[in-house]
Amino acid sequence: MYDYQKAFIGVYEYFEKNKSSDFLVAIPIIEDSLEGIKTRVLKIKTDGAEIISHEGLNTDLSSPQLAFRNVIDIFSQKNLQGYGAIPIFGLDPSMYNKYIQFKCTVQMLKVGDLVGNLNSPDIENPLVWYKAIDTYAREKGFSGGIPVLINEGDITIYLFSPDQAEPDIFNNYEINHYTNISYKVSIDQQKLLMQAHELILSKSSSCNSHPEILLAVKGVYGQTQFTYHDINDKCPCGTENVLGCARLGGHDIWINFQDHDTIEMLAETVIHEQMHIYGYDHPDQPENEDLSDPFYSSIPALAEICIRGTSGLGTYIR
Ligand SMILES: [Zn+2]
Repeated sequence: MYDYQKAFIGVYEYFEKNKSSDFLVAIPIIEDSLEGIKTRVLKIKTDGAEIISHEGLNTDLSSPQLAFRNVIDIFSQKNLQGYGAIPIFGLDPSMYNKYIQFKCTVQMLKVGDLVGNLNSPDIENPLVWYKAIDTYAREKGFSGGIPVLINEGDITIYLFSPDQAEPDIFNNYEINHYTNISYKVSIDQQKLLMQAHELILSKSSSCNSHPEILLAVKGVYGQTQFTYHDINDKCPCGTENVLGCARLGGHDIWINFQDHDTIEMLAETVIHEQMHIYGYDHPDQPENEDLSDPFYSSIPALAEICIRGTSGLGTYIR
């Protein structure tokens, strides 16, 4: 997976979960390659836009530039004036053979015309071009724009008017987890973890009693690359009564998938382990479930309550 695709996948997946009927899809315009910052996106309006299937497109196999070129080759045969098309990059293999067509203004520019907007005019780095084209588009009164083809000194761009697309901002911590995390677990378990992440992100943003919990969630999703393992994969906490495990400041989370009955329960474990990754610890869990024990006022235990809503009981170890 290319870095360039990651932003597309994160924005696409996040938008799918937070969709409104006015918009068909969202595409990223990278503000900066620095981590932890917000990603500017264009939400393509449903009117006139369509997702098209085309067998053999295989956007996961092509380099991003080639995927764009293939889609334009396919799309140009339709001869739809006033429209553009780009590939869709998503996690689900059913997305690999799809592209989106939409109303826009197609324009050709000389690369030299953009030099003022380019800090480092690196033709090999598409992310640089996204920023430059979007800046150019907004200067001309459009709601945004994207580059689609760069040939010699010419660059073909799509410009969106306000009735075709609307800009928005997505937080990077909300989209990174679709592509920044390694999973040494089964595909089904990976899907469960992604659902748990979505639940954590939706609940922790309204968990106001301890702001440091949301800060830690943002920190883990925004910056840290971490890896999920099954509990039977050399878990340093052992396996007896253990639901989840992570080392303080580490980059790995072990999950006991067998003993989680619901996504909520899995999310409780995951957010607890995320707090450890971020550096929060707790004393040993008391055996008698005494809620006045300092364990229950530790950040990892309180983070579970963000998900569950009530103080926790149980003899499992996290
Ligand atoms: Zn713990």
